[in-house]
Amino acid sequence: MIKLSNVSKYYNSGANVVLGLRKINLEFNKGDFVAITGESGSGKSTLLNVISGLDSYEDGEIYFNGQPTSHYDQCDWEEYRKNSIGFIFQNYNLIDSYTVLENVLAALLIKGYEKSEAKIKARKIIAKVGLTDKEKNRASQLSSGQKQRLSIARALAKETDVLIADEPTGNLDVENGNQIIELLYEISKEKLVIMVTHNFDEVKDYATRKIRMYDGEVQSDIVLEKNLKNIGTKPEECDAKNEKKCTIKQINNKKTAWEFALLNIKSQPKKVILLFVFLLFTAFSSYIFLGGLLSNIDDTTAKTFSYSAFYNGSNKRISVRKPNGDEMTDEDIAWLNNVDKVVGVDKYDLASDMCYAYRKDIDYKKFYHTKEFFDDDSEKPTDSYIVFLNYNNYIMSSNLLNKDNLSCGELPKDINEVVISSNNKELLGTTIKFYLSCQKEWPKDKYIEKDMKVVGLVNSNSGQVYFSDKLTGMMAATAYQKERYFCYVNKYRRKAEGVVNYSINDELEGTDAKLSYKMYNIIGYIPTNRSSMAIKSNIMKNDPYFKTSCIDLNILDSFKRTSETSLDVDYDVFNESSATIIEVNSETFYKMYKDIAEQVTVYIEDYAYADKVYDTIIQKGYEAVIPYKMGSINYSKEKVRARLVTLLISFSALLIIFFLEVLIIKSLLKYKKGDFVIFKLIGMNNKIVSYINYFELLVYQLFAIVCSMVIVWILCLNNVTYIINIFKYYKLSHYIIYVVLNVLVLLILGNSYNKYLKKNFSITSLSDN
Ligand code: ADP
Ligand code: MG
Repeated sequence: MIKLSNVSKYYNSGANVVLGLRKINLEFNKGDFVAITGESGSGKSTLLNVISGLDSYEDGEIYFNGQPTSHYDQCDWEEYRKNSIGFIFQNYNLIDSYTVLENVLAALLIKGYEKSEAKIKARKIIAKVGLTDKEKNRASQLSSGQKQRLSIARALAKETDVLIADEPTGNLDVENGNQIIELLYEISKEKLVIMVTHNFDEVKDYATRKIRMYDGEVQSDIVLEKNLKNIGTKPEECDAKNEKKCTIKQINNKKTAWEFALLNIKSQPKKVILLFVFLLFTAFSSYIFLGGLLSNIDDTTAKTFSYSAFYNGSNKRISVRKPNGDEMTDEDIAWLNNVDKVVGVDKYDLASDMCYAYRKDIDYKKFYHTKEFFDDDSEKPTDSYIVFLNYNNYIMSSNLLNKDNLSCGELPKDINEVVISSNNKELLGTTIKFYLSCQKEWPKDKYIEKDMKVVGLVNSNSGQVYFSDKLTGMMAATAYQKERYFCYVNKYRRKAEGVVNYSINDELEGTDAKLSYKMYNIIGYIPTNRSSMAIKSNIMKNDPYFKTSCIDLNILDSFKRTSETSLDVDYDVFNESSATIIEVNSETFYKMYKDIAEQVTVYIEDYAYADKVYDTIIQKGYEAVIPYKMGSINYSKEKVRARLVTLLISFSALLIIFFLEVLIIKSLLKYKKGDFVIFKLIGMNNKIVSYINYFELLVYQLFAIVCSMVIVWILCLNNVTYIINIFKYYKLSHYIIYVVLNVLVLLILGNSYNKYLKKNFSITSLSDN
């Protein structure tokens, strides 16, 4: 069965060559119970290791079942160890964390048995060595004798014809030792058992052959009289028949590895938790720092906003229109409202660039001066005007609100109604003067004044005011229109002209119009016989005499000119709007302007989602711009620096975390090395070992990733602002990057650990344990 012919073995220890075996010639056959004796260092273990393929030989040839083995490569030896040799060690080499059943199961799984089948088989073998009542105990909880019996059970599970035992009784007392010998003797009836012992007496009743080693050579080889001593019952014959039915499938490495990975996770809870906690730490912190990186990838944050194109550079604003300039209908708006992360759609985008002032000394300051054309100082009327202190209160319409947003009151319907942000309920129902302006198109001192009634309150301290659709529509309509006015002495003689803005005042009837004070000042010299004014719409700008496009306005005529230098003026007629504002009613107003929304403003939850929402809108076929991005042109030194610092910190933190992960987890894994050496000793191939590591790590890692996400989710639910600000930047692709990154690091880790295992696999690494 096994034949050694002139086998020699040398050890290279440094410069010296130590002789292990010299020209050994031996032959072993089935049914033999070979006892190898000899002094310590005589080469007994070396002989066994060479026979069992745990160690190489330099010279001669070993024949196994007649086939030479000297040409075997690493794979062949793995196969040989797995299929041909069962081992029993002096120090048992059990997986301590596994139960008795699992230890035997391991050997069967490595052989390729199905788990369920393997379990049945394992129980039978355990019964054979008398450990049935210890089946569920961990190997570490067994006594020495039980451990060695388990080790024999495991060797039996391999169903090899050869069983090799290196001083199996070395750590046992006499009684336990005898039981083991008896067990081996029983086994030897069907197999070849080769056993090393330094105490031949214990086997003298059983051994069929005695080999004595001395200094790496066979000193004597005696065939003993066949021992007829019959101990215990014969091994069950039926097993041999049953076993033939069991089909050992072509071993599926991945499946086997998976079984082992689960077995390991189940049997080593403390180690698993330790590993998991660390992986959780890295998964969580990499989640955070990747978020830090992502939230700074957009370099718009490093730029300053310039008001060249848009005045309202809110980073939550996206302006949307149709490519052909058609009206944005209610369906369009409804669709936009339904886009994920959109908080509201303001129907009239142009008004979003216009501003308002209403809080005295916060938004504006009021000044007075005497009207210059009253020379006589008896009754000097004072002309007041305001100066905006703040051009950043942008007009928003109540489209963005619904009834639930209000703490009390109603949504504004009429042009004179507003909802303001305030907690002060007393403001409800009061009238406040508002000043509206368009800083982009209008001169700085030009504004429309309106008395507005507070009809609702929003519980917020943002100061934001929400106007009616009517008002935002009106503002949007006039935003970029530069209407000219002309005053005529008669049909052919123009007296005055200029740029005018119209404003709606529905208290006016028909074509009645109310002029601003300054307007009056300009047209103050209209002859008393003429109180109407030709109003031109934009299109007809170049043809002031085209009558049909003109609307004759009836200027409320409360002033009378009595001479070239003095006027009677009823000041109540004038509104406080600055410069050239003419108030007309809606009907007249919309004869001049289109009442359609061509461009709408989409407000998003956060700038983090700007690109995502933008892409969705563009894909639907709209035109869109993100004013904040468009207007942010110039880099600001400080902002660039701050951004770079954040990027650098996040990036290096990520690197450090991953580096630490590889380093620490690898050293945590090293304590598992012993188990893998044992697996390999009992025939597990390198592939399975690698897979086990990858699978185990993968399970921990994925679990850690899921846990980090859950933790972040909980933190976000609890309004931890810092976390929220980071995680809103995560998009689906970023989650994928995050998972891939973490899994990649884990693969690197697994790979380096597997390399380490490969390099450090040797029998000596076992005796170190
Ligand atoms: P024993 O009969 O006690 O089992 P061994 O077979 O272990 O003896 O050792 C036989 C000889 O080979 C001894 O001289 C030992 O020092 C040497 N030897 C065994 N293993 C190694 C090794 N890995 N490297 C160098 N020398 C070794
Ligand atoms: Mg030895």
